[in-house]
Amino acid sequence: MLSYDQYLKNFDKCVSSYIPPYNSWTPADEALYKPKDLYRIPIKDAEELQLKSLKFAFNYHYEKNKFYHDFCKEHKVEPNDIKNISDLSKIPLIPDGFYKDYPHGKDFATWLGNIYTGELPKIVIPHTMPNYDQVIDAFSKAGVIVTYSSGTGGRHTFIPRDIRTFHSSEYALAKCVVSMIYPFWEYDSGGYILMPNPRKNFIYAGKALEIYMDAVKNIQVAIDRHINTETIRITMGIGKGIRSKFIRFASKRVSKKMIKDIVSWLEHNKNSTEKISMIGAPFILYFVMKKIQDLGLTFDIGERGAVVTGGGWKIHEQIRMTSSSFRKIVKEVLGIPEKFCLDAYGMVEGNGWMVQCPEGHYLHVPYSYFKPLVLDDEFNQVAYGETGRFAFLDAIAMSYPGFITTGDKVKLLEHCPVCDRPGPVLDPEVERVKGAETRGCAEEMRSMMTRDIGR
Ligand SMILES: [Zn+2]
Repeated sequence: MLSYDQYLKNFDKCVSSYIPPYNSWTPADEALYKPKDLYRIPIKDAEELQLKSLKFAFNYHYEKNKFYHDFCKEHKVEPNDIKNISDLSKIPLIPDGFYKDYPHGKDFATWLGNIYTGELPKIVIPHTMPNYDQVIDAFSKAGVIVTYSSGTGGRHTFIPRDIRTFHSSEYALAKCVVSMIYPFWEYDSGGYILMPNPRKNFIYAGKALEIYMDAVKNIQVAIDRHINTETIRITMGIGKGIRSKFIRFASKRVSKKMIKDIVSWLEHNKNSTEKISMIGAPFILYFVMKKIQDLGLTFDIGERGAVVTGGGWKIHEQIRMTSSSFRKIVKEVLGIPEKFCLDAYGMVEGNGWMVQCPEGHYLHVPYSYFKPLVLDDEFNQVAYGETGRFAFLDAIAMSYPGFITTGDKVKLLEHCPVCDRPGPVLDPEVERVKGAETRGCAEEMRSMMTRDIGR
C-alpha cells in the first residue's frame, strides 16, 4: 500500500494549479497547504497555525473592508486586541442572514462590491436592469466567482470569492476528503458528480466540486445543464404561470433520465477493476438506490467504491434521513463499505470542510485555519458537549470577511469519541436552529427534482 506521504504527494501534484506559488504564501496558505493531513496536526501546532492565520485574516479585513472595519469599530475590537488563542473569540461575528440581505438590479452589484474585501476588479454589466444571473456572469468574467445557496423561502446567500479564495476552498475540500478516505483516492478512476455541472453553474456545493474533475480521470455529471437562480425559485414553488409549469414539467423528465443514467453507469462499472466514487447530494443517490432495488438488483462494488455526500439530509418533503441509515443502504444495495461512505459538512459562506472520519463518522474540523464556535441564544460561547448555534472564524476567506454566525444547530466535542485524530469534532447530525429555514445546496436540488421522481 502507498504510504500516506506518497499518496498526498500524488494528490498535490494532480491539483497543483490550485496551490499558489510558495513565495506568495500568506499565514492562511501556510495553515492550509503545508500540513500533510489537516486532521492530524498535533493540537499545539494546529492552534499556533490557527492563531497566526486568523490574526492575519482579521487584520486584513479590518484594513481592507470598509463595512467590516466600521462593524468592528462599533464592537470596539481592533487587531491589537487579538494576542493569544483565547482572544480569537473577540473577533466580531457577522450575523446569520447578513449575506442574504441583498437588493435587486445594479444595486445587487454594488452590494456585492461592498461585501468584497480589497480592490474589486472592474465589473462590466451591459444591462440596464440586470437580473441576479447577469450580475453573477459579469463578476465571473472579471474573475470574481459569486456562488449561492438558499433557503426554501427562496432567499439566496450570495458570497463573492476571488479566484485564489475559491481555489483554496476547493483544495481544502478535496484534501480533507482525500485524507479521510486514505488509501482510496487515485487519479486513474471513475467518478460521478451528483450535483449540477460545476463548470456551468454557481450553486456552491456543486461549484466547489470542480476540483474533482481535475483529481479524478473519468468524470460524469448528473445534471449537465445551466440552472439559473430563476429556475431554482420557480421549481422550488415560488414562481407562478405557464413558464413555471413548463420548467417543472421539464425538470421531472430530466430527473428521471438522470436516475436512469446513473444506474446504467453503475451497471457498466460493476465488473470493472477500476475504482469508482460518487460525490454530491445524498437524495440523488437515494433515488438511484431505490431504483436499483425496484429492479431487483444489488451490486457488490466493495472497497473499489466510495461515496461522499454533502448538502443536507432531507430526502422527501417530510423525511430527514440520518447519515448512518444512509450508509447502511449504501452497504446493502451497492456493497460499498461504511468506511468509504463519508459525509461532508460545509456551507456557502465558509471554506472549512468538516468531513467524517471512517472509524466513527464524526465530523472533524480542519483546525489549523478554521475555528468552530458554538453559541447560546444570547450569542455567548458554550462549553464543549453543549448544543448551540454554529459560528466560525475562517482564515482562508480573503475576498469577504469569514467570521460568521450560521443558522445551524451543532454539538462540538473536544475530541472524537472514536478515532485518535486530535482536534474537535461536530456531532454528525447537524440541524437547523428552530425558526431558521431549511437550506443547503442539496435541499435546493432536492426541491427542484423530487416533486415527482420520489413517487
Ligand atoms: Zn473521528
